[in-house]
Amino acid sequence: MAQFGQEFTTQMVVANFLNNQWSEPQVQPIAPLNFHPGSHVLHYSSTCFEGLKAYRWVDGSIHLFRYQDNIKRLQNSANALCLPVPSYELLEQAIFSAVKAVEEEIPELPGALYIRPTLIGTELNIGAAGRGSLEAMLYVITSPVGDYFSGGIRPLKLLIDDENMRSTPKFGQVKTGGNYAASLASVTAAREKFGADQVLFCPGGQVQETGAANFIVIKGKQIITKKTDGSILPGITRASILQLAAAKGFQVMEIDYTVQELLDWLPDCEAFLSGTAAVLSPVGALIYRGVEYSVGDGQVGEHSMQLKTMLTDIQTGKKQDLYDWSKLVN
Ligand SMILES: *Cc1c(COP(=O)(O)O)cnc(C)c1O
Repeated sequence: MAQFGQEFTTQMVVANFLNNQWSEPQVQPIAPLNFHPGSHVLHYSSTCFEGLKAYRWVDGSIHLFRYQDNIKRLQNSANALCLPVPSYELLEQAIFSAVKAVEEEIPELPGALYIRPTLIGTELNIGAAGRGSLEAMLYVITSPVGDYFSGGIRPLKLLIDDENMRSTPKFGQVKTGGNYAASLASVTAAREKFGADQVLFCPGGQVQETGAANFIVIKGKQIITKKTDGSILPGITRASILQLAAAKGFQVMEIDYTVQELLDWLPDCEAFLSGTAAVLSPVGALIYRGVEYSVGDGQVGEHSMQLKTMLTDIQTGKKQDLYDWSKLVN
């Protein structure tokens, strides 16, 4: 299987917002889109997206994981970008038909189907810099993905950046290309200068998250992460892991905390990144002001891996889903 993000299924779903109404979502062969170079999205970044997965369980049934939360988050992002907001029903229909259309192409476990609903402003008007696009396109593309950790789990190295922001205090909760663009220079420099995998953004010394994943610490019987206040993306994986940790007896601490506090915890804590693509990626080291600090013993954390297994067991139907997170598609 190709690298994550470069292989796609044969079909996609498209709906357009024109003259104040949405068209029916249509399944069509995946192909280049046709829109004018003067389209709003290409100039003013009126774009947002989602990322979720469908799994083929061993009995052949296909299940989506917590897609309702992805729909609500996309609506929230659309609102923030002044894009036409697709109804819950429209998004549900688009996602379900995109999955059903490629049912045969969904890999066996531990693979999955990664689903990328995307909403863009298509109004042809480079004069509309100061208002939202009045026309939009919603499309859902899908990608068969293999085991993210097929080469084994290598703990990540993060650079702590306490100068730059990946977003603004309120726009951080919006899943939009602009936030990724804003963090690119910092991530590129971290990779080139320090050999870091990712940047942990900590503007003003306050720990937030990385460019594309939430950051979570386990310290004794506490699980600690930045509270959702608009500045970070409210991750669905994050929320799921916190809920599972609470059920395992951990004290969940959604708080504001500083780089200094984090450094103090490091000798005996575990840390990981959470997000749909990799689910949970252990963090083995942090670099701050030129000094590298090991997270615990620098290896993959035991509690982190237990939480990862608990979550993937529910996603893949190996364990009973007490939370009603999985929804049958076919
Ligand atoms: C998508 C994303 C996440 C992870 O969200 P999930 O719902 O867990 O996939 C975290 N941070 C950022 C910046 C993201 O874009």
